[in-house]
This record gives sequence, C-alpha cells and structure tokens, in this order.
Amino acid sequence: MALDLYKYVASVPDYPEKGIIFRDILPLMADGAAFKQATDELVDYAKDKKVDMVVGPEARGFIVGCPIARELGVGFAPARKKGKLPRKAISATYDLEYGTATLQMEADAIKPGQRVLVVDDLLATGGTISATIDMVEQMGGIVVGCAFLIELKDLHGRDKIKDYDMKALMEF
Ligand code: IMP
Repeated sequence: MALDLYKYVASVPDYPEKGIIFRDILPLMADGAAFKQATDELVDYAKDKKVDMVVGPEARGFIVGCPIARELGVGFAPARKKGKLPRKAISATYDLEYGTATLQMEADAIKPGQRVLVVDDLLATGGTISATIDMVEQMGGIVVGCAFLIELKDLHGRDKIKDYDMKALMEF
C-alpha cells in the first residue's frame, strides 16, 4: 500500500525566521520506503517524456534528481551555487527577499535539443527553478517537465513556470 508522504515532512515553525513554516524533507529522505516511493512517483511522471538529462539545483535538487536520473537511465547535471565549477560555466541570477543569488552550470552540460527534466525538492517563489530553466535554455535544451516533492501554493511559484509542464507530489 502507498505511504502517506505528508507524514514524512516535518513542519518547523518560525524557521528560518519568525512567521515562516519550513517544510523539512529530511525525514522523507531518511526513510527508505518513503524516499523510494517519492522518487518512483516522479519517475512515473517523467517516464513518457523522452528525457535525455535531469538537472537539479544545489543542494536538495541533487538528492531528489539523482535517483530519478538513474532510474530513467539518463545523466544528471547540477546547477551549482556560484564559484564551485572548475570549467567554463554559464550563470543565471534571481531575486531573493533581500538581494540576489546566482546559480551556474558547466557550459557544455546540456547539448542543443536535449530534453531536460528539472527537479528540486520544493517550489516556493519559483526563483530557483526559473534560474535553472534559464540556464538549460541558454544551452539550447528543451525543458519537458519540472518535478518537485513539494509546492508551497501561497508563494505562487507555479505562475513563474506556467509555460512548462510540472508535477509536485505534495502541496502546503
Ligand atoms: P524558491 O526559489 O523561492 O522557489 O525556493 C525554492 C528553493 O528554496 C528550493 O531549492 C528549496 O530547497 C528551498 N526552500 C525554500 N523554502 C523551503 C522550505 O520550506 N523547505 C525546504 N526548502 C525550501
């Protein structure tokens, strides 16, 4: 029988600041059956999309994206925080509540025309995923889907990626 994945998300009030409820997915990752079910469900979402590559942003996008890539039998390319990549990189900058953040990918991570599944643990305002999509498209990749464990509905990240197909397993 399928597990109720909501039971594996810890809700932490007033983190990282007062008034915010942080949704912590580490209990889900720590449970073998729940982690397998969650990643299998996202593989199911992606399996008919003819995905060539999975891309995920640092750091939990790696944790969720890699098992999906392996199960689909395709490669994984990380979108890293600025300054971590040794070879030629491309960048995308997005707005945070205070200031901006920059993600980078190796400039040859995606080949033109490749079909890409973008994966992260959680969709909040959509800034992180939009920057990741931006880099995939700078390289000529085609984003065929966006997959998340969690969508925070009130932050309307879905509006930022309305031109793309998306799937989130849980909503808060
Ligand atoms: P966004 O860019 O505003 O959509 O924020 C999404 C990014 O921030 C993801 O990479 C998440 O890992 C992280 N994030 C934001 N809020 C939470 C949360 O409540 N729990 C876990 N990660 C979060």
